[in-house]
Amino acid sequence: MTQPIRAARGSQLTTRGWQQEGALRMLMNNLDPEVAERPDDLVVYGGTGKAARDWPSYHALVRTLTDLREDETMLVQSGRPVGVMRTHEWAPRVLLANSNLVGDWATWPEFRRLEQLGLTMYGQMTAGSWIYIGTQGILQGTYETFSAVAAKRFNSTLAGTLTLTAGCGGMGGAQPLAVTMNGGVCLIVDVDRTRLDRRVHDRYLDEVADSLDDAVARVLAAKRDRRALSVGVVGNAAEVFPELLTRGVEIDIVTDQTSAHDPLAYLPVGVDLAEARDYAAAKPAEFTDRARASMAKHVEAMVGFLDAGAEVFDYGNSIRGEAQLGGYQRAFDFPGFVPAYIRPLFCEGKGPFRWAALSGDPADIAATDRAILELFPENESLARWIKLAGERVAFQGLPARICWLGQGERDKAGVRFNDMVASGELSAPVVIGRDHLDTGSVASPYRETEGMADGSDAIADWPLLNALVNTASGASWVSIHHGGGVGIGRSIHAGQVCVADGTALAGQKIERVLTNDPAMGVIRHVDAGYDSAREVADRTGVRVPMTEG
Ligand code: NAD
Repeated sequence: MTQPIRAARGSQLTTRGWQQEGALRMLMNNLDPEVAERPDDLVVYGGTGKAARDWPSYHALVRTLTDLREDETMLVQSGRPVGVMRTHEWAPRVLLANSNLVGDWATWPEFRRLEQLGLTMYGQMTAGSWIYIGTQGILQGTYETFSAVAAKRFNSTLAGTLTLTAGCGGMGGAQPLAVTMNGGVCLIVDVDRTRLDRRVHDRYLDEVADSLDDAVARVLAAKRDRRALSVGVVGNAAEVFPELLTRGVEIDIVTDQTSAHDPLAYLPVGVDLAEARDYAAAKPAEFTDRARASMAKHVEAMVGFLDAGAEVFDYGNSIRGEAQLGGYQRAFDFPGFVPAYIRPLFCEGKGPFRWAALSGDPADIAATDRAILELFPENESLARWIKLAGERVAFQGLPARICWLGQGERDKAGVRFNDMVASGELSAPVVIGRDHLDTGSVASPYRETEGMADGSDAIADWPLLNALVNTASGASWVSIHHGGGVGIGRSIHAGQVCVADGTALAGQKIERVLTNDPAMGVIRHVDAGYDSAREVADRTGVRVPMTEG
């Protein structure tokens, strides 16, 4: 690919309708060099999460979406368009299934074998479902998590605390800004200097130190002064974490977002970054063993910090599972972030609601920001987030915004945005979607559904029902994926996106989808026995047959 990809902007259609146009612009936006980690390889984020299987598939997707009619639906099988079916105007314009494998075959080696044969691709969560919006997407969730850590342990502020983490990639790069937005100090380790520099450029990371000694001096000074600061340092976390533990540096919070979910994407100690890709391709089993041995050391140090009294959590990358496979027995001594901090929000149907302006005009996002503040004036933390995001977040690709909204809130916001398109207050339609990491859309026993109250962690009927109900409710595109976030064999999850094109039909669809989609989360948590979810269901009129009569 020679020409960088950039989605069309403005209010002129390049397809037969806005539902198709939304899908086409978001596919292209996922591969915009401002958004994607490795656009030349079609990789959007999360190790090898792709938007299309290969270049011929990408071109066929563009061609098909450009010509797709309002009563047709394109079917996508792991990043390749495989059919166009006659449907109807309430049906999604695109249905996607990415990376799915039958249970016993759902292993990395088998997935890689099939991938090499050109039969599948890794869709991650929002890479293959075309609603990745750059690092901001994860920023809100990361901000929420660190706020919850602050509320739990540090009098609701991270001022005067030091957080140690690693992995400054597409998702992990949100961590330093999320910590400083909460007033804290962050030290972030990455083996790849370019990743740290990119986050400095995006204003997610304040500075990069020249050495570990330099980094430690800078973060300790900031901690002492209760000054918010984030510092990056180049190094392998499996060496730097144990070194910091041995030195006795006073660290309050420890987590990690290296690409540990994929042992071929985590750099083992002693391997040169420049050689890693070829080495992993040539000797995947040996590379995996070495990566897991390094992860064992990395996690052993995290448990060392836990023993020393720090707040330690797994940030959804499966590093505990991989470290255990690497022979470290105490890997699961610290919890995952969902049971520790996020589940109470999921019980209210809250999750990562997001939207993007197809106009390309930042003024459209500013107008939607104002609408959110008007709609939910009583929600202080939401107001704080919207204000900070407006000031601190640099857009990547099409201007976009994310905020966590719950049952009874998402439909209000969506209908309002559609009205704003209709009235001309917004200069073009917006797409409204979410991460697959949401309240009722994912089964992932190491992450979103870890430690469910009724033990239903691995039950994967819920995300499938979620995709079905969004399809039945009128979403513009719906996806079912496997493996995103935590790796092959470990998760099944679904996504939806609606295009608010200002028509009355879009308004009706949006109202139903954005009511039913979070309602899946409410009923899932009622079913698992969470009282707070039951209260939300009662309050918002979500029907749960087993609690009726
Ligand atoms: P990425 O591939 O873009 O970035 C990973 C980073 O880790 C890279 O910068 C790489 O250089 C660095 N790295 C690899 N090995 C290292 C080592 N040994 N020491 C130090 N740095 C190392 O991936 P991403 O999109 O940032 O995602 C990171 C992880 O977080 C993935 O496992 C992903 O599945 C997970 N994730 C979690 C959530 C969540 O909600 N908690 C959401 C999305 C992704």
